[in-house]
Parts: sequence; structure tokens; C-alpha cells
Amino acid sequence: MVSRFRADNQMKGISAKPAVTIHATHAFSLEHWDGDRPASGRLLLEAAAEWLGAGIKTFQIHGWRYSKPMRVETQACVILNQFPPLVLAGDAFAGPRVEGAALSGWAAAEAILKSTS
Ligand SMILES: Cc1cc2nc3c(=O)[nH]c(=O)nc-3n(C[C@H](O)[C@H](O)[C@H](O)COP(=O)(O)OP(=O)(O)OC[C@H]3O[C@@H](n4cnc5c(N)ncnc54)[C@H](O)[C@@H]3O)c2cc1C
Repeated sequence: MVSRFRADNQMKGISAKPAVTIHATHAFSLEHWDGDRPASGRLLLEAAAEWLGAGIKTFQIHGWRYSKPMRVETQACVILNQFPPLVLAGDAFAGPRVEGAALSGWAAAEAILKSTS
């Protein structure tokens, strides 16, 4: 599998024109990181052709080296120190997307409030 997550940027409200972001899988990115980027982009587009259902006018490739956590912890946050409070939070704790990052931040805030009250 070359891609597991495809986002419709127009539906998300961040693009006035039809535009999508195709996220490569970890395995695909690792295999193609040092390779020819436009060629990698074409492979991703080919794999997404059925889902896209339209012609491609233009495309750009970008490599985000730290875009996703390699491992997601089961705890929503990790308390390193009670007082002064030091808590780790982010999408590596409660799920590798915005929702997980928000839930993790919430859990961290609660942990800090608890340790300072
Ligand atoms: C291209 C792309 C598209 C995405 N689209 C979606 C989507 O549609 N839906 C979805 O749910 N998720 C999406 N994600 C995933 C989502 O962006 C992340 O899961 C989320 O942003 C993680 O939030 P976070 O707060 O854990 O980390 P981040 O958002 O990465 O925040 C970390 C912050 O820490 C700062 N920082 C780093 N190092 C330091 C330092 N030494 N000192 C001070 N500050 C520092 C960074 O600048 C950054 O502001 C996408 C990710 C990418 C790369």
C-alpha cells in the first residue's frame, strides 16, 4: 500500500479550488525518501486515481521527515515530574492525528492542574 490517508482540502475548507493531499505510508516514504520525488508523486497519484476520479492539473511533492510518530503510546500523556509539573503530550500519545494531539493536550492540562492544586 503506498497511501493510507488522503485529504480533500476543499472539503476541509483550506482550499478554494479542488485540491487534495495524498499522504504516503511510512513504508513508501522510507523506500522513496532519497529517490526521484516527482516519480514518487506519480506513483502516489496512480494509486489514488480511482479515488480522485478527475484529471490532475498540477502536483507538488513535499517530504515531511517528522510528519507522523513512529510509535503511538497508549497513555494520553506522560508525566515526567509532578512539581514543578513537566508533562509530555502530542499526537504520539493519544492518536497520530489532530484529534489525538488535542486529547493528549487536554489530558496534559488536567495532569498539570491536578499537580498544582
Ligand atoms: C501535511 C500534513 C497534513 C495533515 N493533515 C491532517 C488532517 O487532515 N487531519 C488530521 O487529523 N491530522 C493531519 N495531520 C497530522 C497533524 O498535523 C498532527 O497529528 C498534529 O499536528 C500533531 O499535533 P502536535 O501538537 O502533537 O504536534 P505539532 O503540530 O507538530 O506541534 C509541535 C510544535 O512544536 C514546535 N516545536 C518543535 N520543536 C520545538 C522546540 N525545540 N522548541 C519549541 N517548539 C518546538 C513545532 O514548531 C510545532 O509548532 C497532518 C500532518 C501533515 C504533515
